[in-house]
Amino acid sequence: MTPARDPSPRGKSLLVRGARSWPSGPSAAAVDVRIVDGVVEAVGPGLEGDGLTRLDGCGLALIPGLVDVHVHFRDPGLERKEGWERGSAGALHGGVTSVVEVQNNPPLSTSRAALLDRIEHVRARSRVDFGCLANLLPESLPELDAMAPLTPAFKCFLGGSTGVGGLIDREALAGLFAGAARAGRMIVAHCEDEALLRAGKERFPRATAAEHHLVRSTEAEVESVRTAIDLVRRTGAELHVFHVSTRGAAELLRAARAARLPVSGSTAPHYLLLSCEDAPRLGNLLKVNPSVKTLDDSRGLLAALADGTIDAIGTDHAPHPLEEKRREYAHAPSGMPSVDLLWPLTFELVRRGLLDARTALASVTSAAAESLHLPRKGRLEPGFDGDLVLFDPAEKRAVRGAELPSRSKWSAYEGLELSGWPRIVVRRGEVVFRDGRTTVEAGGRPLDLRSPVPAAG
Ligand SMILES: [Zn+2]
Repeated sequence: MTPARDPSPRGKSLLVRGARSWPSGPSAAAVDVRIVDGVVEAVGPGLEGDGLTRLDGCGLALIPGLVDVHVHFRDPGLERKEGWERGSAGALHGGVTSVVEVQNNPPLSTSRAALLDRIEHVRARSRVDFGCLANLLPESLPELDAMAPLTPAFKCFLGGSTGVGGLIDREALAGLFAGAARAGRMIVAHCEDEALLRAGKERFPRATAAEHHLVRSTEAEVESVRTAIDLVRRTGAELHVFHVSTRGAAELLRAARAARLPVSGSTAPHYLLLSCEDAPRLGNLLKVNPSVKTLDDSRGLLAALADGTIDAIGTDHAPHPLEEKRREYAHAPSGMPSVDLLWPLTFELVRRGLLDARTALASVTSAAAESLHLPRKGRLEPGFDGDLVLFDPAEKRAVRGAELPSRSKWSAYEGLELSGWPRIVVRRGEVVFRDGRTTVEAGGRPLDLRSPVPAAG
């Protein structure tokens, strides 16, 4: 007897035959995946699926679709810099089937009405599943309860960055943390101490791109993470620190986790594969916030990923046109694109022996999803969404920014030989990317969210 089907399926049905799980276990035997109405029903050898569309896995390596916990697609408002059509095409190119997006240009999501408008705007344009972060600002306080069911988290800037100023008043910050705790949603934070950022600018009035890591200093991040963890202790809020860039901040997170505080964190590929020693070569292409620090910081971050102190690698994909990056240092915008490269860059960490394969994969799939409480994403297991990537680990190709889908058309990794390029990407049972091209125009849906959990007291 055929079980009754959901009248509005989450996706399509597909039988993937003859792929190979990556990383391979003791047996590198072929594995199949049966996806019914967008949801994984079975994973294993020799699966049947009468009447299902079939996809030949061709012996390619198989991983779950990636979850990028941090992207900026600048849409609505600044579509000339990216937009969801290009941004989500770039995501698929990088093996990413789910993104969590931070709006840091107007209109900000500070009310339920604004957030609903944005979700509908994105739904019409995104090729990948998406979560829209709400902005945690004093003006959004009255709306937090109403926004909580619609957003994975509230985004708080402790230090100013592109488009959004940092908060300097400690009591105002405490009020925001307490508000998020009452609304039952975690805070995701950009941690750089605003007073130390201002002091850095004054100390280096004629800085060049090679000194960006001194202007936006190690201390600025470490002090800000210390403040944020202190506010977690005081308010009961849950915290995820975005784009951790220093060994010192990772050590604070490690201690906070050991003390059983509800904190998690992510870093980005540029903090792991590049360092401030690349700044003279890359100039403003390496100008990102927080700044890219030293090789020793990279090593500290890799160790923090390996021991579970840092959960995830998210790109902080922040596209800007090359003309703007070519301005002199003080006037060039901060941020770099890289969602188009997330899986090849993560694979590179494994290829170089910097991170073990299972940790690297989890940091962009299961651990990434779990750190933001995103159910049904990040695993190829029954009951999870049928999102997957097939790639050839042996295929090598150099990065060419001009050929990437992202509108910015440049890359800080230009010329770097990478492997792990996704060949086929499946989103909820539907082939959405194949051999370098997207095969759908939209179809992304809002990510399922855990119900808000108001803090006790
Ligand atoms: Zn960001």
